[in-house]
Amino acid sequence: MAAHSDSSCIFCKIIKGDIPSFKLVDTDKTFAFLDIGPLAKGHALVIPKYHGEKLTDIPDDHLSEVLKYCKAIAKASEFKEYNILQNNGALAHQVVPHVHFHVIPKNTEEDGLQIGWPTQKANMDELKKYHEELKGKL
Ligand code: AMP
Ligand code: ZN
Repeated sequence: MAAHSDSSCIFCKIIKGDIPSFKLVDTDKTFAFLDIGPLAKGHALVIPKYHGEKLTDIPDDHLSEVLKYCKAIAKASEFKEYNILQNNGALAHQVVPHVHFHVIPKNTEEDGLQIGWPTQKANMDELKKYHEELKGKL
């Protein structure tokens, strides 16, 4: 098990094998398993073994493998359409505070992920100012 784990975390317990899971992938840095509350058949979770709540808490080398396995699962499952989702924080619908990427098949309008997308009209002056600020920090 990765050195950086939290004994009270449900996903760290799954990684350790203390809680059973429908395991799909188990490497030095990455673990994947089927979601037990699927939005559609085949809904899977891919997680770094390194415990952290949000994306920004996980070192890059632990994150880099995760996307590879999201892709591998989507490919092996032969999903035609799908969403990759990663929630950060309770307001952003995160329930389990260990970073996880959902691989969610989308077969019909009704199954899979339902997304609200409330777009706003951008103020171009504000956008320009924000762009300058953010660019400078990256
Ligand atoms: P999120 O809302 O992004 O935090 O999603 C947490 C996900 O973890 C949900 O889709 C749950 O169904 C899933 N989940 C919670 N406990 C387990 C478990 N023991 N095994 C598999 N999936 C789980
Ligand atoms: Zn954890």
